[in-house]
Amino acid sequence: MDKHAKIYVAGHRGLVGSAIVRSLRAEGYSNVCVRTHAELDLTNQAQTANFFTLEKPAYAFLAAARTGGILANNSYPAEFIRDNIAIQSNFIHAAYLSGVTRLIVLSSSCVYPRLVPQPMCERHLLSAPLEPTNRPYAVAKIAGIEMCWSYNRQYGTRYIAVMPSNLYGPGDNYDLSSGHVIPALIRKCHEAKVRGDRHVVVWGTGKPRREFLYSDDLGHACVSLMKLPDRIFDGLLGSDETVSGLFEPPIINIGLGEDVTIEELATLVMRVVGFRGKIVFDATKPDGTPRKLLDVSRLNAIGWRARTSLQAGLAKSYADFLRSDAAAVSS
Ligand code: GDP
Repeated sequence: MDKHAKIYVAGHRGLVGSAIVRSLRAEGYSNVCVRTHAELDLTNQAQTANFFTLEKPAYAFLAAARTGGILANNSYPAEFIRDNIAIQSNFIHAAYLSGVTRLIVLSSSCVYPRLVPQPMCERHLLSAPLEPTNRPYAVAKIAGIEMCWSYNRQYGTRYIAVMPSNLYGPGDNYDLSSGHVIPALIRKCHEAKVRGDRHVVVWGTGKPRREFLYSDDLGHACVSLMKLPDRIFDGLLGSDETVSGLFEPPIINIGLGEDVTIEELATLVMRVVGFRGKIVFDATKPDGTPRKLLDVSRLNAIGWRARTSLQAGLAKSYADFLRSDAAAVSS
C-alpha cells in the first residue's frame, strides 16, 4: 500500500475506526480521508455515492456501524438491522462503482451461531441458529459479508470482512445502558469505589465466557491485512462455492486467542480500579451467548498476533476512563 494512497476510514470517531486511523498515521500513511456523521450520512445512498464518486479512495475500511451492548441490541432491534444493512449496502456498492482496490468491512464474532464448537473457525459461519439477543445485528453483518463475497465473485473485487472478538479501548462507550461489559464494569467499579459501596452489580450469572481484544491491536491487525501482498490477500477473498464446492467465506478472525468468564473479568476490573467490595449478580439481565472464543490460527499463520494482554489493556482503559467525561460525572 503506497504511503500516499488515499485511504478512507469510515467511522473514525468510533472505537475501531479511531484505532485504525491511529495505526495508519503511526505507519506514515499521509492521505487518510475521514468524514464525520454530520458531513456524510452513510445510511443515505445518494450522499454515499457522491462521496465515493468525488473522493475515489484507493482503499477503504468500513468501521461505521450501529453497535451496542447486549441490552441496546435487545432494546433497539429494528434500528440495529436497518442502519447496518443500509450502511453496508450503500458503502459496498459505491466502493465498487468508484473502483476501490481493497475494502475491509468490520464484522463481529457475534455473527457466528450461538452454539458452535469453540474456538470458532471461519467455516462455522451460517452453520446453526444465531443468538437471539443480537440476531438482527448479526443478520445485517452477515448480509455485509455475503455482499463482499458476491461482489468478489461477480465483479472480481477484493473485499473482505474481519471478525473481531469483543472490543474495548480508548474512547469506549461508558454509558451503562448502551455500552459493552468492560466499559460498564470499569464505570461501575469506579463509582462504587468513589461512593464507598460494599458491592458492584454484574449482569447475568457471571458464567458466560468472552474473549476481549484491545482496540489498538485490532487497528494494527486491520492495517496489516490491508498491506498484505496480493498473493496472500487474495487467499482471503473466499471461494466461489458454486464452482469449488468449498464453503470459504471472505472473512478472517481477529482475537487474543483466550477467554475469561464474566466473573473473572469483573474480578480483574475490580483489581485494576482498586475497588475491594463484593460482586452481586443480577440474574434478571440476559447472559447472551454462553461462549465466544475465536480460532485465530488463520491470522497467526499470516504472521499476526495480538500484543496487549487483558490485564494491560484494562489498565490502559481505566486510565482512559479517568480522562473521559463519564469519570467527571461519576466523581
Ligand atoms: P455480548 O458479548 O454481545 O453479550 O455483549 P456485552 O459486552 O454487552 O455483554 C457480555 C456479557 O457481560 C453478557 O453476559 C452480559 O450479561 C455481561 N455483563 C455483566 N455486567 C454487564 C454490564 O454492566 N453491562 C453489559 N453490557 N454487560 C454486562
